[in-house]
Amino acid sequence: MQFRCACGQLISDTADSLPYKGLIVPDQDVNRVLGFPHDQASSWLRYTRAAYQCSQCDRFFVADGSGVLHSFVPEEHSPKLLSSDEGDEWMHTLVGVWNDDCPPGEEGGLSWEASDPTFREPYDTWTALRDAYFHVLEQLEAAERLRSASLERNGESVNIWPESQA
Ligand SMILES: [Zn+2]
Repeated sequence: MQFRCACGQLISDTADSLPYKGLIVPDQDVNRVLGFPHDQASSWLRYTRAAYQCSQCDRFFVADGSGVLHSFVPEEHSPKLLSSDEGDEWMHTLVGVWNDDCPPGEEGGLSWEASDPTFREPYDTWTALRDAYFHVLEQLEAAERLRSASLERNGESVNIWPESQA
């Protein structure tokens, strides 16, 4: 989903690990959330509420229990409240997807979750996408800023990093 801030900025929630999104847990539900096993994320996520901060005007949005967004205007310029404290050192996730059967321009692309907005780039050919994927992967790996990476073509895994995940 995506929505437009009152300042005109489009705020998009169509990827994971967004630097301007957070999850709020009501204090009354914290112990319940902490009690869920790691592999039951979808179970405890329902006790969280999405929060967003506009990167243009700092306006803050919090979803209520029904998912309706409520906005708040800060009294002064505020820092990026929902970005990881790791800042630029935040570990990246790189994803490349390609499908031969899709119409031109929709075959897939490369997304790189880290920047604001999320780096997302379409490629004209599978070869161009594959080359770009390995180029970015090499750079992030060398900088020790890669958490995980995957490349798929027509639903088949072409590359997984780190290899121990394969
Ligand atoms: Zn705004």
